[in-house]
Amino acid sequence: MSATPANEPLLDYVTSCALPTPWAQFTLHAFVEHATGKEHLAMVLGDIGNGEPVLARVHSECLTGDVLFSQRCDCGAQLEGALKKIAAEGRGILLYLRQEGRGIGLVNKIRAYRLQEAGADTVEANLQLGFHADARNYELCKPMLEQFGVRKVRLMTNNPRKIDALTRLGIDVVERVPLLVNRNAFNNNYLNTKAAKLGHMMNPLTEAVEDGQL
Ligand SMILES: [Zn+2]
Repeated sequence: MSATPANEPLLDYVTSCALPTPWAQFTLHAFVEHATGKEHLAMVLGDIGNGEPVLARVHSECLTGDVLFSQRCDCGAQLEGALKKIAAEGRGILLYLRQEGRGIGLVNKIRAYRLQEAGADTVEANLQLGFHADARNYELCKPMLEQFGVRKVRLMTNNPRKIDALTRLGIDVVERVPLLVNRNAFNNNYLNTKAAKLGHMMNPLTEAVEDGQL
């Protein structure tokens, strides 16, 4: 997918600052991706470079859900839930990847929402717009985690594709930690579609994940 040659870094680490939140004071780290110029972020808490598995969330930007309180999806609740879990443990990392709308961009996501209002589900809408059902790319996770010496993660996700993607990159996903979110009248069909068509796991139990098993 990327035009960047294999021997060149995909992104540069730039700088960091303290980021107080309602739950803990994180350190916010900034990266810039070479291929796109996009600015990606990592929120870090505690000593994550000591070799022990790290509680981690790979969160893709969702401006409507993360910032505008949209109830169409579960992104804002998952972002808040992940940060709260990291704060409760006092140790962890959240990667914030700027791949809005499962990779299709903000305006196209709004086009997709419009199609959903005409009866399409979230997967059908993306396909009608000429996109893949899920256009996200997780290759940036590897250099971002390497920046902090993280090789083993306890990944907070309901998405087996994300576990597969990280595993293929050589990141050791030693455990899946489910992120349960509140269903509502607006996101119920969306969550059902993610489970039925994209394989998302809504099982509340924490499960050990073996390489390649999901
Ligand atoms: Zn969302």
